[in-house]
Amino acid sequence: MTTQMHTERAGSESALSVLQNVYGYQAFRADQAAIIDTLVAGEDALVLMPTGGGKSLCYQIPSLVRRGFGVVISPLIALMQDQVDALRALDLDAVFINSSLSAAEIRDTEARLRRAEVDMLYVAPERLLMPQMLALLDECADAGNLALFAIDEAHCVSQWGHDFRKEYMGLSVLADRFAEVPRVALTATADERTREEIAENLCLTDAARFVAGFDRPNIRYTIGEPDNAREAMLAFLDQHHRDQAGIVYCMSRRKVEQTADWLVRQGRKALAYHAGLDAATREEHQRRFLREDGVIVVATIAFGMGIDKPDVRFVCHLNLPKSVEAYYQETGRAGRDGGPADAWMAYGLQDVINLRSMMAQSDADEQHKRVEHQKLESMLGLAELTTCRRQALLHYFGESLESPCANCDNCLDPPDTWDATTEAQKALSCVWRTGQRFGVNYLVDVLRGSSSERILRFGHDELAVYGLGQARSANEWRHLYRQLIAKGLLAVDVDGHGSVVLTEQARPVLKGQQVLQLRHLRKGGSSRSGGSRRSRAPVSNEDMPLFESLRALRKRLSEAAGVPAYVVFNDATLADMVALKPDDVEQMRQVSGVGQAKLDRYGEEFLAEIRYHTGLS
Ligand code: ADP
Ligand code: ZN
Repeated sequence: MTTQMHTERAGSESALSVLQNVYGYQAFRADQAAIIDTLVAGEDALVLMPTGGGKSLCYQIPSLVRRGFGVVISPLIALMQDQVDALRALDLDAVFINSSLSAAEIRDTEARLRRAEVDMLYVAPERLLMPQMLALLDECADAGNLALFAIDEAHCVSQWGHDFRKEYMGLSVLADRFAEVPRVALTATADERTREEIAENLCLTDAARFVAGFDRPNIRYTIGEPDNAREAMLAFLDQHHRDQAGIVYCMSRRKVEQTADWLVRQGRKALAYHAGLDAATREEHQRRFLREDGVIVVATIAFGMGIDKPDVRFVCHLNLPKSVEAYYQETGRAGRDGGPADAWMAYGLQDVINLRSMMAQSDADEQHKRVEHQKLESMLGLAELTTCRRQALLHYFGESLESPCANCDNCLDPPDTWDATTEAQKALSCVWRTGQRFGVNYLVDVLRGSSSERILRFGHDELAVYGLGQARSANEWRHLYRQLIAKGLLAVDVDGHGSVVLTEQARPVLKGQQVLQLRHLRKGGSSRSGGSRRSRAPVSNEDMPLFESLRALRKRLSEAAGVPAYVVFNDATLADMVALKPDDVEQMRQVSGVGQAKLDRYGEEFLAEIRYHTGLS
């Protein structure tokens, strides 16, 4: 917006009217109002809120309400352009300074900052800490034109976490150097330890703390162990996410490449992303994911932090993540806009073996290894669970959810259990009889009575357990072994060969002193559970044609403007439009996400499209 409007509003408009007029939202969510009040009053804040909770407004609105401009510190240079575009679509004046600008552009932007003509400045920490930048900000602060500092992705200051960036440590200088300017640190990372490190390292121990609940009710959790994970995923995507954007995580680069190629051959728009690709390719793939409709990125964990795309409809895991924290963070990238989203995972025995031996072979010290080991166990526990996944997930983060969520696979389609005692005894005694020196595939061969050369050579065809398990498929036996490993009755010998050994816990089962209830094999998100799932489309079937044509209109407009589709309107806004079917400008203003600027810019075109459809029906 223009300088003049900016100064006018700074004095008069309240935070709520900015929310309504600029952003087009009716009310603040949860802690947003309190956080904004704290910053507007000139005080510091530490904000922990899940992805999609609405962190950005917490610093954007105070930047607008307070005098001068807000400085937003973010590690993600590649995303700054999109963040700034999204604000410009609201007629806000946002700028960034980074290495993608020419020297002349930087000089020009600096001059505009000196004149306090802008609403928000985005910079990476290394840029902010350059002497020239700090000197410029000193000047602005002296003139009373620094509204606030917002430190986004604040967990990057934590040495414990996996996103540590050493430049973040330097941000502690802001406390002294700009003592009068309020600071807010924001993160979606949940755990206590990281939280304390952020407060400590950013000199925010006295800051007001806002810790939101970590539930993401719109995300549906599904975890399965299908025979063929790729095929099961495709079936699931065909059923629930035909042309929608999503992320597929794999453990290795090779698997990323193979899966992306395979998806392309199945007619999907899929792109690979991992640290082995050159920077230009990575950037291009990220750009297409943000800009184009319905792109699937297949990635290692290198992809995702700070991806602001609100309409990621699914996150799939084709491998078991290392910890519940990682699982929560990665799945959390789905459904930022609050619309229905899926977190779907397929895993198998090999994942457990790989992760365990990776950990055993790492150079980390013993204490670190123990922690990692526990984390993997917790993740495995979540995967093998037969009760509500959300309750378990929240419990892990120290929260409680009273009743089962009705939006996870175990709630929607409770798993059957069976008395597996006898079968487990066969499996365990096969381990014992063969000398605890073999991997699961070999053990299964013995149980099923294979006459492989190896078995004959070891004389294992003469064991009592040989051929005892012919009634079950190899896959059922592998599944049983995995559950025995997950439950701790068997341990994987971490010599790298994956042989399994009995643990103390196997004894009572082997001796028949304990009954073992296990879960039936679940084929994953498709097949069995497919039919019973209720539909979760953002709009009703009869409104689908209208929704689709609004999406098409959005696509044309965003392409013409060279911005991501969600910068025009996000899916939640389109769904609200379809629900309300506004007939004139005033009604259009009632739609959530339609503020003044977007009303002026796009209102008429969307109204025309809606009228055309309602006239038809
Ligand atoms: P975060 O940074 O916490 O992941 P965002 O700030 O990107 O979340 O917000 C997620 C989505 O929710 C965005 O599309 C945003 O516009 C929307 N949003 C935020 N606050 C509100 C609100 N009070 N009412 C409606 N929508 C909101
Ligand atoms: Zn549940």
